[in-house]
Amino acid sequence: MSKILTEVLNANQAYASSFDKGHLPLPPARGFAILTCMDARLDPAKFAGLAEGDAHVTRNAGGRASDDAIRSLVISHKLLGTSEWFVIHHTDCGMELFTNEIMADLLEKSLDTAAIDANGWRDVGQGPGSTDGKYIHWLTIQNQAQSVVEDVARIRHHPLVPKYIPIYGFIYDVKTGKLMEVPEAMAAGRAV
Ligand SMILES: [Zn+2]
Repeated sequence: MSKILTEVLNANQAYASSFDKGHLPLPPARGFAILTCMDARLDPAKFAGLAEGDAHVTRNAGGRASDDAIRSLVISHKLLGTSEWFVIHHTDCGMELFTNEIMADLLEKSLDTAAIDANGWRDVGQGPGSTDGKYIHWLTIQNQAQSVVEDVARIRHHPLVPKYIPIYGFIYDVKTGKLMEVPEAMAAGRAV
């Protein structure tokens, strides 16, 4: 068994041995949802004060308002009653480090993990790669504040999202742990 697999299963055994949350209802008790990045430095339960059962957290690369993120948010409200949503991007996001073209080129050469240095990304792994990367919109980020505004606005204007749900836009600072409001996103996400 791999070291990681062993560690995770051991950690779960310890967690389950004192588990006392089996009574929680399915709908989130505090009635809100967070869309944020998968970045390993972000712990929404800690930075937003969540316990099991409190809130929905949808995560993807960048915390972007992809079709699938919107799918989760619509389910979160329509079937499980959340009524306030947060979009939280963050400083030093990996999504700022490449473009659609760079990703497609890297994948075309090799599927192995690439390397980055002062000259940018390069493949150090073996081929063959795949041209399939050219067909995916990777939702990269050029400017954090702008991406928060765009994603909040996209959710706000989605036909399946009720106008009365406020959508809040923030950037999480990985150096300080602080949530920084993005005023333009807050305005774009206002409930009406
Ligand atoms: Zn990120």
